[in-house]
Amino acid sequence: MNKLARLDHRFVWHPFTQMREWLKYEPTLIVSGKGAVLRDIRGREYLDANSSIWTNLHGHNHLRINAAIQRQLKKIAHSSALGLANEPASILARELVTVANQKIYESHAKPPRKSQIANRKLEKVFFSDDGSTALEVALKLAYEFTRRTRMKPVGRASPRAAKPKFLSLEGAYHGDTVGAVSLGHIDLFHKSYSGLLFQTDKVMSPYCYRCPFNRARPERADAREYRKCNWECVGLVEKKFAAQRRKGNPYAAFLFEPLIQGAAGMIPQPAGWLRQTAEIARSHGALLIADEVMTGFGRTGASKAERRTPNIELLFASHHEGVQPDFLCLAKGLTGGYLPMAATLTTQQIFDTFLGEYDEFKTFFHGHSYTANQLGSAAALASLEILQSKPSVRTRQTLEKCLHDELQSLWSLPAVGDIRQVGLIAGIELVRDWRTRKPFDLRERAGIRVCEAMARRGVLTRPVGNVIVLMPPYCTIPSQMKRMIYAIYESIHETFF
Ligand code: PMP
Repeated sequence: MNKLARLDHRFVWHPFTQMREWLKYEPTLIVSGKGAVLRDIRGREYLDANSSIWTNLHGHNHLRINAAIQRQLKKIAHSSALGLANEPASILARELVTVANQKIYESHAKPPRKSQIANRKLEKVFFSDDGSTALEVALKLAYEFTRRTRMKPVGRASPRAAKPKFLSLEGAYHGDTVGAVSLGHIDLFHKSYSGLLFQTDKVMSPYCYRCPFNRARPERADAREYRKCNWECVGLVEKKFAAQRRKGNPYAAFLFEPLIQGAAGMIPQPAGWLRQTAEIARSHGALLIADEVMTGFGRTGASKAERRTPNIELLFASHHEGVQPDFLCLAKGLTGGYLPMAATLTTQQIFDTFLGEYDEFKTFFHGHSYTANQLGSAAALASLEILQSKPSVRTRQTLEKCLHDELQSLWSLPAVGDIRQVGLIAGIELVRDWRTRKPFDLRERAGIRVCEAMARRGVLTRPVGNVIVLMPPYCTIPSQMKRMIYAIYESIHETFF
């Protein structure tokens, strides 16, 4: 084992990793990357098939992002946002507000006239460090906004007074800090911390492949199949809101990952689900918190209308369904996958609730040492510019189609139960029996074994449970895409036959 790998084994504790397993094998030690390729210390090359855990957008070692960081580095790497403003963060905040308020209906079917889902403007940006903190910020702001505007008496709340309540989705994952974990509903990750957490409610989210109401196979979920669907899952959301309202403490906020739930197993929502549930939440006075940590920055692809009008680029998944949330939580791809940085965008109304005289202590008492970091901001500005350029839009559209076409070959494998794709995100669900959809027991490590076999073929990704995740960097070329899919094909074959 080489020296650096020994250092890793001796000193580093890896996230979401059974370290006993880890310590049995020499780790893959990455030393460089270019485009969609990662190179390890032994000179082996790998395709980065999950964009380095869903962060990278335009590829590694991108000339324009490198240059932007280097330019900024010549000036300063970091100065605090506590008490000081800085150049790139101020510009980035303006750019984020601009892209977050693009006319989301210009390219999409108009909502009913009285719709409440698009009538918000995101005007303020609170910077933090990663996805979890972006969610913590939204959570605290929504909590405090509700407490101050809806709950009496304002100010010192007695411990027994009703507290603002949150509703999130079954299978939700929003990060690993205590607040974000409280909003999560994946027992494997969250249950052991239950004593640390505050209570939130969950509601069924659509999982069409395992829908308890409708047996339509997803690949045949055309208009005819959808008519069979009575939107029972939406009905349950309505019921949940109504029941909570009857208790006299309507939900403060509804939290969701728009269009597709990631860590839950790459589970897409059928078209219309988000629009309908957002309408319900708003009609009950709840704030909408969109966790676009994974879905943001073009990941969910081009909407159909967008293809007709390629000048209009919807960068956020919520906008594909015409939903403008009260909080838009961004991280991962914000810096193009270069540096840890996050942003929580919100409305003037929320901002105003925290205004007051110094001695009223209405300040938002929250912040991090690296908030509004200059290097991260410079990378994010460069990434946004690339993202909005015509070549990038075109490349993403081509790649999305290529991904779709290549994925079809996997249907022939009996261990493949479902293939799900939203834009440039794909999940391949492995099953013991495709006829009955019987899942593998997690202890069988089906997803992990397939990903290990893929790594031996030079393609890196991590599964979520029994689902193989494919999320290529936007610079992936068709031949690399083919190699990724072929590695999945061969690895599934090798693992199960
Ligand atoms: N929200 C979503 C939807 C995520 O996928 C993740 C991370 N996978 C997070 C929040 C947490 O982000 P981070 O790991 O940067 O804290």
